[in-house]
Formats: sequence, structure tokens, C-alpha cells
Amino acid sequence: MAKRDYYEILGVSKGASDAEIKKAYRKKAIEYHPDKNPDNKEAEAKFKEAAEAYEVLSNPDKKARYDQFGHQAFEGGGFGGGGMNMDDIFSQFGDIFGGAFGGGFSGFGGGGQRRAKGSNLRIRVKLTLEEIANGVEKKIKVKRKVQAPGTTYKTCATCHGTGQVTRIANTILGRMQTSAPCNVCGGAGQTIDKKPADADAQGLKVVEETVSIKIPAGVVDDMQLKVSGKGNDAPGNGIAGDLIVLIEEEPHQKLQREGDNLHYDMYISYPEAVLGTSKEIDTVTGKVRIKVEAGVQSGKILRLRSKGVPNINGYGRGDLLVHVNVWTPKELNKQQREFFENMMNDDNFTPRPESSDKSFFEKVKDMFS
Ligand SMILES: [Zn+2]
Repeated sequence: MAKRDYYEILGVSKGASDAEIKKAYRKKAIEYHPDKNPDNKEAEAKFKEAAEAYEVLSNPDKKARYDQFGHQAFEGGGFGGGGMNMDDIFSQFGDIFGGAFGGGFSGFGGGGQRRAKGSNLRIRVKLTLEEIANGVEKKIKVKRKVQAPGTTYKTCATCHGTGQVTRIANTILGRMQTSAPCNVCGGAGQTIDKKPADADAQGLKVVEETVSIKIPAGVVDDMQLKVSGKGNDAPGNGIAGDLIVLIEEEPHQKLQREGDNLHYDMYISYPEAVLGTSKEIDTVTGKVRIKVEAGVQSGKILRLRSKGVPNINGYGRGDLLVHVNVWTPKELNKQQREFFENMMNDDNFTPRPESSDKSFFEKVKDMFS
């Protein structure tokens, strides 16, 4: 099923302020709240949909990515972006409702226990332009907390293993029964029975693990990718946090990226411009030789189709734009000086732009239209 536009889901315009987005989400969350719509699958779907929209639009990084790439910004090859689970949704609520809802809800999702989630880890991955253009699998060493072998757990005496403590609270929806995570076991339903000496208070210890990360072709500087379950483990029967991978693009010596297109500055000599030549140039898939016609004008842009960066959303591949620069020597010997002085008065060397020769701005306009 195609996802609806996040702005449309919340009923706000693209230019809506943070406060407007928050207010709109608050309204939707109350309207479709599971406690107000028991056993209503449609309301549940809308509740989740609104939460997901808010999750993105309330985060400046995610919002910027969404504005640029749409839903596909979070669906890069093999990453567990996309939908939110109820734990994620409820964890938003402290922010939205000032903690009125506490952690969990009564009677939601068939009474399933809320599982504690381990914390997320963040790493920065530097990629070359070639790696970005071709996609790459990176093996990265990550220090993460895992459950220490030998740790044993027992049922929490406070919440009797449910992970939640039920209480009656006055909320913005009126008086209702809410459940908050048990503060003895942190919502895990279990407490530590025995643990080895090298484990921390939660029965976890830090290990170095090699995590394999598939980076899809076309990622952008500052983009974040999520590898589910590769963050820190949670104690007991909790679920592991995520590994957030921040993409950093290393500058290329010869190629400059502009979205999916690449630019290359090619330098040719005066004789080469006059007589024509062929030149080897760098591309993200290796070197290619290109032909330069005799009489080429300085500033001409040669376009190599589909030699740029693949679009992250799968919309084909950008182009490589080769800019022709004629190299002018600063010093001449006597013979060279005489040659050019003769040419100075030669009618053939007088600039005579043809009417079909477009200005630089017209050429650039054509290129991107
Ligand atoms: Zn407990």
C-alpha cells in the first residue's frame, strides 16, 4: 500500500511550524488513541500512521530528508527504517503530553508486555565518492553492550513479571487506567539474579563486534541509516537497540558532486583546442577516454550520460558534466610570441560566436530543464 504524505496525515501545510506540527499530532493522537477506540483496527492504523508522520516531521534531520526524498528517504536497501512499533510511539508521548500517559497503555495490542529496549548506538562512516556511487558493504567494528554470559534473571517481585505497574490517573482524556513501566525492573519484568564480575548493574558487558553494513548506492552526506538490533542489548528479555549510521562523504580529488550529477574540470592546451584531441578522465566507475572535437570552445560542457551517481530513490543515474578549460601559458619564448603576434592580426583568430552558440546561462538552463 502506498504511504500517505506525512503532512497530509497530520493535516498541516509543508511550511507548518514545529508548534503547529506538534499541535496537529496531539489532536490526531487523542482522536485515534487506542484507549478511546478499543478493538478498532482502523483507528489503530491511523494512530500509528500519525505517530510515524510526527516522528519524522518533528526531527529536523528526518524532516529535511523527507522533504528532499519523500518516503524513500527511510527505505534504503535493507535498512529497518519505515514503520514504528508501539514502544517507539509511546516513547514520543512524554514529549507531546508532558508525561501524562507515562510509558505504556492498558489493554493495547492484546495485553502484550512492553519489552525494554536497549539504547541506540551511533557511528559515523566515511565513504569515498566511488563507494557512494557503486554502493558498498562496510565491515565496521562497534563496541556494544551485550548480555554477559552467566547472567541469570528472576521475575520482578514488584510487577510480577508484567513490566508494568497499573494506576488510575487523570489525563487529558479524562480519568483512566494507565500503566507505567515498573521502576524496579525498568519495564523488563525481570531483575538480575546472578551476574559475572565483569558485567555492569544490568548484567551487560561491552564487547567489540564487527557489524556488516550494506550501504545503498546514492546516499547523501549526513544521511542516517538504521541497522536494527545492532545497538546495545537490553537487560533480560528486552530487545536490542539500533545502530544509527551517519554517512560522511569524503571529498573527491577530481569529481565534484551536485545531487546525482558530477562535475569534472578538464584542462586542454591551446593546440589541443585547435586541433582536437582525446583525453582520459576519471569517473566513479573507472577511467574513460573522451574525444574533444577540433575547434572546441573553452567553457563547453560535455555531458556523459549516466556516468554520475545513482539516485537513492531509484530514479536512474545522474550524468557526468565535463567542463572544457583551455590552458593558457603565462610565459612564451620568442618563437611562440612571434607566432601568436602573427595570429593576432589573423582574421581566423577573431572571435566570431555563431548565433547558435548559446550563452553559458542558456547552456546550463538547457542542461537542467
Ligand atoms: Zn518490575
